[in-house]
Amino acid sequence: MFLATLDKVKRLVWTKIYASRCLECINYCLKCVSLKFNHSLLMLNEQERFVFEGYQIDEKNSSLIFNYAMEKQEETINFQEKIFFPEIGFCPKAVPEELLKRILENLLLAIGINYWKAFCPSNISLGDVSLSEAQAEFWNKFYSDGMGEFYYQNKMDPNGLVKFPFDAEKKEFPKIDFERKNRSLVLFGGGRDSIVTAEFLKKAGKDFVLAFVNEDDVKKNTSVLVGKETLAIERKIDQKLIELGRQNKVFKGHVPISLIWGFIYSFVAIVYDFKYIVTSNEGSSNFGNVEYRGKIINHQWSKSWEAEKLFNNYVKNFISPDITYFSLLRPFSEIKITELFLKHEKYLSSFSSCNANFKMEGKLRDSLWCGHCPKCVFVFTLISAFLSKEQLIAIFGKNLYEDEKLLPVFSEILGISGIKPFECVGTPDEMRLAFTMASEKDDYKNDKIIKHFQKNLLTDFEKEKLQKELFSFSDEHSIPEEFKNSIQQNL
Ligand SMILES: [Zn+2]
Repeated sequence: MFLATLDKVKRLVWTKIYASRCLECINYCLKCVSLKFNHSLLMLNEQERFVFEGYQIDEKNSSLIFNYAMEKQEETINFQEKIFFPEIGFCPKAVPEELLKRILENLLLAIGINYWKAFCPSNISLGDVSLSEAQAEFWNKFYSDGMGEFYYQNKMDPNGLVKFPFDAEKKEFPKIDFERKNRSLVLFGGGRDSIVTAEFLKKAGKDFVLAFVNEDDVKKNTSVLVGKETLAIERKIDQKLIELGRQNKVFKGHVPISLIWGFIYSFVAIVYDFKYIVTSNEGSSNFGNVEYRGKIINHQWSKSWEAEKLFNNYVKNFISPDITYFSLLRPFSEIKITELFLKHEKYLSSFSSCNANFKMEGKLRDSLWCGHCPKCVFVFTLISAFLSKEQLIAIFGKNLYEDEKLLPVFSEILGISGIKPFECVGTPDEMRLAFTMASEKDDYKNDKIIKHFQKNLLTDFEKEKLQKELFSFSDEHSIPEEFKNSIQQNL
């Protein structure tokens, strides 16, 4: 009874404080007030705590199990995530015990972000895991910079929210000898980028397999065309979390997914014997979407070069120096990658980068491209710079340059209005260059969208400058020498 009254008082106070104008919609927005209000209550209550409980290895089902608990005043909610790996080769016992412990403890912290973010308590317990100060700094960054879009969308202040506890005495991380075979795991999504990587490595005669989390029709069909062995992992998020999300009882939003995969594949590399983890994150993913509380929010932060270096250093220092994580496509822009991709015609009817069409069930609906999301608009425009209208319509099923409903999306991606959409799309410069290149072709020059943005086309001088910049091989990358040669010889 007393607690209920206290709760009521707290609610009244905080409603008053937070019933202020929302900076986004310049209004007394109820959604924003309630988000801030819920968040404040969570922050206030130090009795609420998120616990990284631990992990188990289930050898029988070749899987890993991760356990978490959200301790609230009135109840404790337990969560469990399971990750299934290929049966053949699943032999964690063959890994030195200390090394296995290192990777699994870190995997526990990486996977846990999905469950922690549902409540965002500042009070966390690491259970049996003990971190050094440098490790804690990495995790603070992972849970703050990696969640920039989440905080922006939920109108939260991340400053000081996440502070991983650490043991000041813990400094030494002796190297554990466990050299891996000189072969690569290529993280494969069935889009332009990872296909270009696979084709580069094939040409260079590298030993690699295509790896993916949660198989879908696009990954399956395109990997058959690559013609290499695959390694499929299945991740099962706790249904309870999905249900709480459906009922809007928890915070929802973007997580640094590429780095979560980085930890999952580090485990795979150690257990299944691979030296390299190869991603296909392009140079353009370094660019952010919007500034928020003095920081640039980048939807693709976990794909950026900054995140790649941070992650690779972390793995080398605190897990194993025998594993190397890098992006083979870091020196390239999206438009250059598209040009490289279009050399491989066999994929044109099977690839897709549109997330909207099979987001939930992993099955294709009637088409590979939804034809209205920012990703469809972006990829359509990039390809139009190189292919004829007939070829483009064969891929997308229709001409997006004739769909006036898409004007706002084009306008945002071209950088003319609003902010860059929170999707994996490239920079406005890339979009404007591709758009201008398409507008110069008889095929597209009279299309409605092209005509609408006529005055935003690049001048000859701007076009030349951007072409030089965006089609060159940038020095900003961490590609190991033996891989660097294999790209440059096959460009
Ligand atoms: Zn789409």
